[in-house]
Amino acid sequence: MKKVSIYLILLLFFGITAWSQSGSSAQILEDLKKLKVVGSVLYVAAHPDDENTRLISYLSKELKLNTSYVSITRGDGGQNLIGSELDELLGVIRTQELVEARKIDGGHQYFTRANDFGYSKTAEETFSIWEKDTILLDLVKLIRRIQPDVIINRFDHRTSGKTHGHHTASAVLAKEAFDQARNSLYKINELKGLEPVRVSRIFFNTSWFFWGSREKFEEADKSHLYSLDIGAFYPSLGLSNGEVSARSRSMHKSQGFGINSQRGSQMEYFERLDASKEASELSPFDGLNLTWSRFNGGGNVEKLIDELIANYNVNHPVLSIPLLQKVESYMVDLKMGHWKDIKLAEVRNLILQCAGIYAEAYVDQQTICKTETVKVNTELISRNYPGVKLNAVKIMPNLEDSVFNSSLKLNVPIFWSKQVSLSSMPLTSPFWLLNGRGKSHYPVEDQSMVNEPESKRNFNCVFKIEINGVAYEVIREVVYKNDDPVLGEVRQNLDLIPPITVKGLKPVFLLANKNGCEVEFEILANLDAQKGRIKLQTHWGFTVEPAWIDYDLNKKSDKQKLKFKISTQDFSSRIVDLNIQSDGTNLYTHQKIEYPHIAWQNVLLPAVIKVSVADLKMTPKKIAYIDGAGDYIDEALTDMGYPCKIIPASAIETIRKSEYDVLIFGIRALNTRDELKNCKIHLERFVKEGGKVIFQYNTSQQLVTKDFLGDSFNISRSRVTDENSPVQILKPNHPVFSTPNKISLADFENWVQERGLYFPGSYPNEFEELLAFQDPGEKFLNSGLLVKKSGKGYFIYSSIAWFRQLPAGVPGAYRLWANLISF
Ligand SMILES: [Zn+2]
Repeated sequence: MKKVSIYLILLLFFGITAWSQSGSSAQILEDLKKLKVVGSVLYVAAHPDDENTRLISYLSKELKLNTSYVSITRGDGGQNLIGSELDELLGVIRTQELVEARKIDGGHQYFTRANDFGYSKTAEETFSIWEKDTILLDLVKLIRRIQPDVIINRFDHRTSGKTHGHHTASAVLAKEAFDQARNSLYKINELKGLEPVRVSRIFFNTSWFFWGSREKFEEADKSHLYSLDIGAFYPSLGLSNGEVSARSRSMHKSQGFGINSQRGSQMEYFERLDASKEASELSPFDGLNLTWSRFNGGGNVEKLIDELIANYNVNHPVLSIPLLQKVESYMVDLKMGHWKDIKLAEVRNLILQCAGIYAEAYVDQQTICKTETVKVNTELISRNYPGVKLNAVKIMPNLEDSVFNSSLKLNVPIFWSKQVSLSSMPLTSPFWLLNGRGKSHYPVEDQSMVNEPESKRNFNCVFKIEINGVAYEVIREVVYKNDDPVLGEVRQNLDLIPPITVKGLKPVFLLANKNGCEVEFEILANLDAQKGRIKLQTHWGFTVEPAWIDYDLNKKSDKQKLKFKISTQDFSSRIVDLNIQSDGTNLYTHQKIEYPHIAWQNVLLPAVIKVSVADLKMTPKKIAYIDGAGDYIDEALTDMGYPCKIIPASAIETIRKSEYDVLIFGIRALNTRDELKNCKIHLERFVKEGGKVIFQYNTSQQLVTKDFLGDSFNISRSRVTDENSPVQILKPNHPVFSTPNKISLADFENWVQERGLYFPGSYPNEFEELLAFQDPGEKFLNSGLLVKKSGKGYFIYSSIAWFRQLPAGVPGAYRLWANLISF
């Protein structure tokens, strides 16, 4: 008896997609056709949602190529249309949106470690943050692993400055990776075990966008371009390619990319980057051998596959099993390089599908602590083929084993369950976040993981079966399964979390005077009977009191509030991180992300107390705050010690200087609060009385009123995206730079993401320009901070990205705000 071991790639279907292990007989036929094709493509772009899903679904479903998309980043820097998650947590959501999109269009998803740090104008600016070498290495690693025949870039590597810097950078990286993948001398140590790979071609997937308009692109001479009509219709699905890809595209829900489906012919164009177009070639794949004849002896396999397809019986897929097993045995003897594992998995999966095998392993809790034991339930059934034998069931890694050695009765399930301990299992949180978020890239410890979309769960059940005397291992991840009266069967990943996690931690704690700052948070028991001692990691120059706090939590879900005081004698501006530890082990915060279109995510982030030390002087003022799109300014002002009252937007009609000294608007308040339509007259009255009004940035589109600071006040789309950009203090003698804190250029160091956005483009002469910022290669923008005296009070408009600087704890930002309020 031949013994083979296979690792089936198990596709878990979540949300709206039905759970199924055996494809329809139409799908099996499609998979047989795919077995015949031996070719692969890698599509490259910068963000989740950059990818051309129409092309990916066409390459995968019509041309049956092994199609992958590598998104250089996970999209942490984007916006979130469906919830409050931003930054790392948004990256987790967008990663999962890509994973779901690929389940629909048939592609595979990969990443690099690059941090999506937000908008950048040029590739050069992007590379100054990314450590180009690191990200290039990640991309070369991926290419050597998956060995694509063709690489296709979404963006043009030659047009830095015309689109997001990340976009151009992704194309520059792909072009260099194309060369370095074949260079045997490139990063020999880092790429040990990965042989050089010669990718045949690299293309740029151009479109009208890069030509300025659809009309210009239509008229352009395209004789130098390759093309594909991607408007295929798939009878096996009853769908057009434009219908499949619209569903895939619509998975980018956090970015608001739901779209209508399209049918009919549609052209895609490709510019070859490594050579000129051959006149005889039309498609990017013309002239490439993507068949079994690329292997010595592969022709025999191809003949058998042709026979399988010709004789396929749609009513009885089971009849294909003997011939599929013959194909399998031929393949085992072929020299196929990395294709061997891929094609063997495909053919073995087909055999299981034709037999109607269903195998699963599940538990009834979605999150479990590492130290718990849990009951794993299993089910195995052969619904279509009588000759299946079950030899053993094993729960991995090396947990429990059970020997059966019995034949399965046709269409009669076998159930088996076992209590297992999980103490040796790793935590399952998104792996790239376990060590925090680096400025350039995620500090990932296991270098074999850098391209992976998700953590490997490694908690599997192996069903050792035999079909016609050939042994197979059917491997299924242990999942969470339960019934819900409304949703029906609920199936999610099973996640392992630590027994103690931290809750209620603020993003930053401000340490601005000799009294020190109070730090408060909770610890939560995820398991009964948790006892221990919490300490904050010590830092030179800081005192923490008390030195430790003991905790004793009886029951799961019990919480304990902890309070420490941190103080220092040295008030030079700086930010320090103090890890929260329990008996010497660093703790994590735990957040569950639950949306219907993606798999539930349990995210563990290092539990760190971020302390911002700032030499801060303040004059007491009474502040009213009108919320906009949501920011952290009101919390930050409260931390500084200002009484800051959130008032409804409608309250501007009655606001008086006798009640408040300063009125502050949240970011985009003039875009989001209809009640501010007639704000001008009320604000003028308040300022004349001696009040101060501070606006933060608003976008130029969809303002509730354009006349809030006079007709001639206009907002542009200009932004300064380089957070280290040069700063000019235009009127150093203005009190905003001296009262009560003496502001210098040092206060503009260690800023994050960007300087400012939507700078005013024109404004009345009475506004004084106080701060100017400048992106590389551009001129200074003088409207970073505008101040106008009016009556006894002031109008202030600031397009500075305060909503990023204050939660990041930038000391200079706190000092400037104290002055804006106090001067
Ligand atoms: Zn993008």
